[in-house]
Amino acid sequence: MFVGEAPGFHEDKQGVPFVGAAGQLLTRLLGEIGIAREDVYINNVLMCRPPGNRDPHPDEIEHCREYLFRQLELVQPRVVCTLGNFATKLLRGDPTGITRLHGREEVRVIGPRAVRLYPLFHPAAALYTPANVEVLRRDFERLPVLLALPEPEQPPTPEPMPDAIPAEPVAERPVEPGAVPADVPVEQLGLF
Ligand code: URA
Repeated sequence: MFVGEAPGFHEDKQGVPFVGAAGQLLTRLLGEIGIAREDVYINNVLMCRPPGNRDPHPDEIEHCREYLFRQLELVQPRVVCTLGNFATKLLRGDPTGITRLHGREEVRVIGPRAVRLYPLFHPAAALYTPANVEVLRRDFERLPVLLALPEPEQPPTPEPMPDAIPAEPVAERPVEPGAVPADVPVEQLGLF
């Protein structure tokens, strides 16, 4: 799995991550190590394009976090490549920057699963600084090695909760005048 920052102009139009220039570089680097783009899962920290392509704001990252973590849970990737600072800091839960971390894999528990986390420079940043394309290429070359490693040891699954103690029956409360009965469909509550 690759995790980028946020959709750009082209991604926003097409609803597909990494289809612009950065995406083309990503696809090329994958091809060079014999991996087809169709064989990897790509997503972003943010699900929508921030206005004017500005950096994601903390509240936006917070809003999208559960969505990204649920994808990690469902896809169950063996290796997660974080592209650039935002994805790396979010998934490591630590402010250390990409310049120090790129190309160094580590096992991290994210949500319920242990994964091999592999921070990489963001391809868009590499496009701005051509020397970084070579750094990215070298880091990509290690990916087949990481994919061939055994799956990291998984954390123990939590013990099932003991059988619930039957609750005391709760006395019916009289419905207050004007209160909305619990079984009214949300569409009828005038919220939308
Ligand atoms: N940059 C990103 O971080 N994500 C995309 O989907 C495209 C460009």
